[in-house]
Amino acid sequence: MPAESYLKAEPELKTELSEIATAMVMPGKGILAADESTSTIGKRFNDINIENNEANRKAYRELLFTANKDVISTHISGVILFHETLYQAADDGTPFVELLKERNIIPGIKVDKGVVPLFGTNDECTTQGLDDLQARCIQYKKDGCQFAKWRCVLKIKKGCPSKLAILENANVLARYASICQSARIVPIVEPEILPDGSHDIHKCQQVTEEVLSAVYKALADHNVYLEGTILKPNMVTPGHSCPTKATPEEIATATVTALQRTVPPAVSGIAFLSGGQSEEEASVNLNAINQYLGKKPWSISFSYGRALQASVLRTWAGKKEQVEAAQNELIKRAKANSEATLGTYEGGAVGKAGNANLFVENHAY
Ligand code: 13P
Repeated sequence: MPAESYLKAEPELKTELSEIATAMVMPGKGILAADESTSTIGKRFNDINIENNEANRKAYRELLFTANKDVISTHISGVILFHETLYQAADDGTPFVELLKERNIIPGIKVDKGVVPLFGTNDECTTQGLDDLQARCIQYKKDGCQFAKWRCVLKIKKGCPSKLAILENANVLARYASICQSARIVPIVEPEILPDGSHDIHKCQQVTEEVLSAVYKALADHNVYLEGTILKPNMVTPGHSCPTKATPEEIATATVTALQRTVPPAVSGIAFLSGGQSEEEASVNLNAINQYLGKKPWSISFSYGRALQASVLRTWAGKKEQVEAAQNELIKRAKANSEATLGTYEGGAVGKAGNANLFVENHAY
């Protein structure tokens, strides 16, 4: 066991982890998920006819991290980075990690190595990357990262998610979380139930409750310190092709009910993924969740990828002269979602991507 890691959560480790987790979901702030893998950012670039090379990936992330310092730091608490991005620097030589720290934004890192098939199931999956995880976490902590993300994927269709997929994904999330904490890194625990399918909101709620119950059983079994974790769940919504749509109030009721029934109050915070919702939907639904009158013992925030970046990408389109306008789109979404964490978003801050559906079938990250 490397000397930099802990055998169990000592008091000073617990304090460090819970302070980081609390800062990540401070009311009024949320997380920018900018950790698209090289192939996933390639799909985003493809939409705007940009070549997926290192220079363009760096230029794009520099755009995100140099948006108006004073404004962005009031809305964004943390950024999830991809390995390559963590070690890149701005044109003036400032490492990206330093740019973030100057803005009081906590750097985080995607540590999973992607979704792989769970053999013997009906096209279900698990997530890989455990083997060298502790060594990577120790190094990432030295390099400035305070939190990590690991995404698991569950599917709703006939007979799915299977008991096997639920148990396997809960267990791998718990192993990941305990390894992160041993290296003084706060784990974002992400068991995403994909929106693909024609199921109704009740089915999504039932599956979300079953999956989250299994996740918290596994986290308890693995001695994970819940105060030093953040949950990144899907909102409870009807499937993407369900003919019956739900209002933000219905989504809020189903989502908060599922969370109340499964997520211990010890968990520091909940930061939703946007999961293919349009930018405006993701803000309006988060706002409705925070307005919902009912027990909510956690800070409830966002950790959006597509719903913070769709307008930015379309506005930028790879053009230098568009950088400032694209940064203004990021600020518009960050402000709307910041207000939504407080339940004060009035709607209407629609960006270039407007109400465009950001759904991607069988979404990979
Ligand atoms: P979306 O908000 O685009 O769903 O992605 C967030 C994320 O980090 C998924 O792992």
